[in-house]
Amino acid sequence: MSLLCIKNARYLGKPVDLLIADGVVESLSPAGTMEIPEHAETCDAEGQVLFPSFIDVHTHLREPGFEWKETVATGLAAAAHGGFGSVLCMANTDPVNDSAAVTKQIIAAGKESWPNGPRVYPIGAATVGLKGEELARIGELAEAGCVAVSNDGRPVGDTEIFRRVMEYAADFGLTVIDHCEDPYLARKSQMNEGHTSGLLGLKGQADVAETIQASRSILLAEYLNLPVHIAHVSAKRTVDVIAWGKARGVRVTAETTPHYLTLDDTSVLGYNTLAKVNPPLRTPADVEALREAVKNGTIDMLATDHAPHAAHEKEVPFNEAPFGFTGMDLAVSITYGLVREGILTEADLIRLWATEPARVFGLPVNTFEQGAPADFFLFDPDREWEVTPENLYSRSHNTPWLGKTLRGRVSAHWIGGVKIV
Ligand SMILES: [Zn+2]
Repeated sequence: MSLLCIKNARYLGKPVDLLIADGVVESLSPAGTMEIPEHAETCDAEGQVLFPSFIDVHTHLREPGFEWKETVATGLAAAAHGGFGSVLCMANTDPVNDSAAVTKQIIAAGKESWPNGPRVYPIGAATVGLKGEELARIGELAEAGCVAVSNDGRPVGDTEIFRRVMEYAADFGLTVIDHCEDPYLARKSQMNEGHTSGLLGLKGQADVAETIQASRSILLAEYLNLPVHIAHVSAKRTVDVIAWGKARGVRVTAETTPHYLTLDDTSVLGYNTLAKVNPPLRTPADVEALREAVKNGTIDMLATDHAPHAAHEKEVPFNEAPFGFTGMDLAVSITYGLVREGILTEADLIRLWATEPARVFGLPVNTFEQGAPADFFLFDPDREWEVTPENLYSRSHNTPWLGKTLRGRVSAHWIGGVKIV
């Protein structure tokens, strides 16, 4: 039997010893109270915070087709070093992940590059080629290993098609993840519509573009009595309709990202393409509402929406730059900042980054109970580090935090009891 003991880590504010036996949790006890078997390998974690591995339910690994931005191997490096033990990757690759062949290729690339994890769970395309016209072969995708379906990046405009996606996905027990954006109202928009877009003379996207589409999904979920998951919520108005749906018993869940909890649209000032993302950064009032929503559970979980792009792709006029931020390297540091500010607790982070994602998408999660998978990481809360291309494991470094100093970083990570970082 292989035994590993992590000593003196801080878990939910208290010093603990963690014993792992053959890849699963044996016990978690107050530090110094456990008899440590003589042949156990030990690791002193004094000063480190212990977390179960996080789950990122929304990431773009870019392979196949966009390997200059990211590959499965480099994306998983960012995940491993960012504290993510499981990642769900979106279907907007080239070719699109609308077939078993692509799903299996992604899973195989993960196993080959990181055989001990992080684990990769592909999300299948909801429609063929993400075109929003014809349903994808969802049964085939489920059988090949997809854990959800989504048209992320290319929201489905046709409500009848979206309804049929929800019904068809439900036949295979898969949840539909909806990137909510009214394609007509959001047409050609570059940032949030408001004071800042007026100043910059950029075409704005009204926040209701998100809310209208989210309302449609919530009403369909109620009518069909089926689940729907709202991706990357950015606006207070959308929080309000999710709360309305939940109060009516609708099976709606939702995620938001670290950037919507910390940045507003003034980050775009100076035509900063590194702050260009979709949905766009909104206003301080939206940030405030999202913080409250993750605290009170209206928003169920966090996700990174990790969207790597090469430097040269962002170094263009604002209107031509692609949307999105790289995120997996940074997410834990940024959200731990919210703990430091007293907005969230460490227990909130575990709920938002691990237990709720696992519950909604039916994935294994470390609860630190006996027999749970030994997926966990140690986090050094005081380590300061600068966000530079050299310090990021993702192939890309398109983030508004580029050049900034963050506090706290993952120092070691185990999956299934095996040290991967
Ligand atoms: Zn999206």
